[in-house]
Amino acid sequence: MFSYTIPQLLQIVAKSYTWKVKTRDKKLFLTFDDGPHPNITLWVMAQLAEYNARATFFCVGENVKKYPETYKELLKMKHAVGNHTYHHIKGWNTPDDDYLEDIHMASKFIHSPLFRPPYGRILPSQTKKLLSNYQVIMWNYLSGDFDENLNREKSLQVMKRAEPGSIMVFHDSEKAFENLQYLLPKILAYFSEQGYTFESIPYLK
Ligand SMILES: [Zn+2]
Repeated sequence: MFSYTIPQLLQIVAKSYTWKVKTRDKKLFLTFDDGPHPNITLWVMAQLAEYNARATFFCVGENVKKYPETYKELLKMKHAVGNHTYHHIKGWNTPDDDYLEDIHMASKFIHSPLFRPPYGRILPSQTKKLLSNYQVIMWNYLSGDFDENLNREKSLQVMKRAEPGSIMVFHDSEKAFENLQYLLPKILAYFSEQGYTFESIPYLK
């Protein structure tokens, strides 16, 4: 699961994170960060519905405040939601108290024990303080959809190596939308043909 290139400090706390879901069943866990967005999130939900797929949406608090109807739609369609801070802030640049306060603010809009740190950047001290209330969800496959210069074919090739329990990251954001429109239908079609189902990350707390 880790490589030797991961700094020691990260290794110590890495065990506290969820990198993939433990299962032998052909289940994939698609996740979408940074929404909700009134058009893009609806587009994602429509793609998922074609495969009767469930996913997990790590929402930004201020976006939920802006687009409460889209957020409600996620819940109505039985997708899981997770906290992705209120202002989409980077843990590395933020004092612990401010970071936790931002997450707390988001929790007024997003009721979920799942948390994903924006940019995957969170300090060990912050993780420690969060673990009593949250399950910190990372990923083992990053689509790279946020990258304007993404080599889409390459991204697709890599993601096709996913195994049971894999957690994949996409973004329901304007920046990622072009890549997402290319990648998501292909991922759904490919893994569905391989006998996979798509599920939301279970709440363990
Ligand atoms: Zn994010």
